[in-house]
Amino acid sequence: MAANPLPSRTEVAVVGRGPVGLATALALSRAGLPVTVIGAPLPPDDEPWDLRVYALSPATRDLLDGIGVWHALNAARMAPVYDMRVHPAFGSTQRELHLSAYEGRVDALAWIAEQRNLVGALEQALRFAGLPVIDDRLAGLDTRSDTQVAELQLASGRRLKARLVVGADGAASRVREAAGLQWSLRDYPQRALVAHFHTEQPHRDAACQWFGRDGILALLPLPSPADEAGGRVSMVWSAPPELADHLQAMSAAELGERIEAASGGIFGKVTPISRVAAFPLRLGRASAMTAARVALVGDAAHLLHPLAGQGMNLGFGDVTALADTLRGPQAARDPGERLLLRRYERARAEPVAAMRLVTDGLQRLFDPTGGGVPGPLRPAIDSAVAFGWQAVARSGWLKRQLVAQAIR
Ligand SMILES: Cc1cc2nc3c(=O)[nH]c(=O)nc-3n(C[C@H](O)[C@H](O)[C@H](O)COP(=O)(O)OP(=O)(O)OC[C@H]3O[C@@H](n4cnc5c(N)ncnc54)[C@H](O)[C@@H]3O)c2cc1C
Repeated sequence: MAANPLPSRTEVAVVGRGPVGLATALALSRAGLPVTVIGAPLPPDDEPWDLRVYALSPATRDLLDGIGVWHALNAARMAPVYDMRVHPAFGSTQRELHLSAYEGRVDALAWIAEQRNLVGALEQALRFAGLPVIDDRLAGLDTRSDTQVAELQLASGRRLKARLVVGADGAASRVREAAGLQWSLRDYPQRALVAHFHTEQPHRDAACQWFGRDGILALLPLPSPADEAGGRVSMVWSAPPELADHLQAMSAAELGERIEAASGGIFGKVTPISRVAAFPLRLGRASAMTAARVALVGDAAHLLHPLAGQGMNLGFGDVTALADTLRGPQAARDPGERLLLRRYERARAEPVAAMRLVTDGLQRLFDPTGGGVPGPLRPAIDSAVAFGWQAVARSGWLKRQLVAQAIR
């Protein structure tokens, strides 16, 4: 447990010490609200490179900059993405959809950062800000006995009163459950395999993606040591279960060859430099993002397919919207006021629905099992995809719209 004294009452209690919870605490504190964080730190990991890496969008960079975290990130362990190359078939190097930071008129399309780097910088900012942190878990929540304040029961037996409880406790959110919000969840017929590779050819700051019968393969740029030839990339392969089993059972040499073939040889020889980790893929949505004295942020509110690398960026969008709702003259008001929470909920309705539609729609369109598209319609859908692909690939305006969506 963290050192005492810790409060028994706070304006805002943020439950969850993942990236979104930590950013929420910092953003709301900067908005002028007294905040207490409840959660355990990230467990240590002895991999030289964290297998969990995120593509952080320009909007996320703005948020992290605003809460004093962007410059605390270890820049030597981050890679910018200036180009995105998307291919409509595995092994293909043709007919790619090319999006660039230059065409989109932005500094970079994204920055690739390890979870450890991101969470470390957020934790450091939290320490500098001197916010109280309770190293504990939420066990129960009472929002009914007193309409003016919520009471949190922690696993240690400690109790804490708060006028607003922010649920940043991930997909299995205890806050969401205790607030009586429904959670709809659908499993994707895929598993995400994550690993890092050395590549014979440099990645030239490009993120590459292949869609096809074998699922969705993304190779994201990683920084390399200065004296190392070639490059390093991080893989996220959303593969059907049998293929995922097969890939996980492969030797390092076999896996390298398979990635080399799947990526059409653009990186030359590909060699694994980490173990392979697997993550289940699910689509989840809370029935509402707010309830009495409760607001949900991040995966506690919405869970997406990672094909667009946007799940956490969407969570950071929640953080920005919640801080915007509660800052300025509103900081003197009760942060759990129904009117303010509804304002937050309205602000997030469109961006969350749009991102869900895009990621779920793309997954279904390319799903090798048919993705709910009736069999006889499949050839027509495939032709429409090919046609749409070429139309987008040729249209500067459409590409700029796609970049604008990608960097939100
Ligand atoms: C393979 C893969 C690749 C991805 N790539 C990207 C990407 O490139 N870009 C991107 O934006 N997103 C990406 N995502 C999505 C991203 O990982 C999630 O959206 C993000 O981690 C959610 O952060 P969070 O803080 O909301 O939740 P979490 O990271 O799940 O954190 C929740 C925290 O709450 C704590 N907690 C849980 N229960 C309690 C409790 N009762 N009391 C106290 N604390 C509790 C947990 O211990 C944890 O610390 C990817 C996802 C996958 C699976």
